[in-house]
Formats: sequence, C-alpha cells, structure tokens
Amino acid sequence: MSPAAPTVGVFALQGDVREHVHVLEALGARTRPIRRPADLAGLDGIVLPGGESSVMDRLARIMGLRDPLAEAIRDGLPAYGTCAGMILLAAGIENPAPDQGSLGVLDVTVRRNAFGSQVDSFEADLEVPAAAADPVHAVFIRAPAVVRVGEGVEVLASVPAARAVGASTSEADDGAAADLPVAVRAGHVSATSFHPEVTGDWSFHRAFLAGL
Ligand code: GLN
Repeated sequence: MSPAAPTVGVFALQGDVREHVHVLEALGARTRPIRRPADLAGLDGIVLPGGESSVMDRLARIMGLRDPLAEAIRDGLPAYGTCAGMILLAAGIENPAPDQGSLGVLDVTVRRNAFGSQVDSFEADLEVPAAAADPVHAVFIRAPAVVRVGEGVEVLASVPAARAVGASTSEADDGAAADLPVAVRAGHVSATSFHPEVTGDWSFHRAFLAGL
C-alpha cells in the first residue's frame, strides 16, 4: 500500500458492503460506496461484495454502472470480489439467472451455488500460499466455484470437488474428481468464493491493499 491511504470503492448497490468497509478501513484504507458511474473517479481499487449476483448485475445495469465499471477494471483498476462479487467479475456463468450477465473482466467460468443452498454452507481452512503463511479460515455461503480457468489465471486455493453438489459433473469425462478452485487471481483482478470479510481472516484484503 502506498504511504497515503488508498481510496477503495465498495460496490454498494447490494450485498455485504458494511463488512468490507469495516475491514478495509481497519486496514488503513479510505472507502467510498459505489452506486453510479461518477463514483468511480479517482479510485485506487474496488471491492465487489457477497450478496446476490443476479440482483447486483440488474441494479448495476439500471444505474448505468455495469459498463463503466467493467471498462475501469479492464483499464487497470484493481478489483477484488467475494462470492457474488466473484460471479460479477467472471467472464462466464454456467448457470445464470434469467437475463443475468457479468462484468466479464476475469477469464473464468463460475457455477453459482456450487456447494448447495444456505443450509449447505460450510467452513474450511484453506492453504493459500500466495496470500497467507497460515491456512485461511474460509466460510462458504451459497458459494460459487470456478469450473473453467482461463489462460493467465492463477488458482490460489481449491476445495475437494466432493464438496460440490452433483460432484464432479464437469470432470465426468475423464472420471477424475479434480479440486474446485475457490480463489483465483489474474493480474490486478482477484476473487474468492468465500467471505474473508466475515471471518476475521483479512489476509486477502491485506494482499489486495498491498498491491494498490
Ligand atoms: N449464490 C449467490 C449468487 O449467486 C452468492 C452468495 C453469496 O454471495 N454469499 O449471487
């Protein structure tokens, strides 16, 4: 992080905005809620929270924010998405809601609710050598998984495919149940299926701020 506190936008049309604001400010960043295109001016980074990605996508379109936001990230604005935020960043959604689109700035395809519904939420300790020395405690709430990783996208953490509902459908061809990526990074864009903003493990936010 540069000596002056960076200004980090938090997509604020829907989702767990407050939790991210709390973490980012506790780590020394200034935050700004992002609701309309003008809010994007002069940002050092942006965080896309968890929530409901189809609602976020629809509201972003209604507010005229989706295209300018995608363009800003494509032009180099560092971005970090958690859960629904990962879905918003993704290039592809395997099972979108009707009319659901995305920003298309991270070359992965995601499967929404890959681990089941709210009752199937789970916690796990993940090895994430790129972001943290110790295992990261991760909570998955109706979380997506990455089912296709594009070129140049680094997988930072995975969970066993057996965790997924209808486990290994996409790996059925070769019979191998590969791990499912749940944390990825491609240059200045990173995303996690889980919610570091609610567990008190701020390694990912720290790594994100360190890169600004
Ligand atoms: N299942 C939600 C979606 O598709 C994401 C859940 C979350 O962000 N906790 O947007």
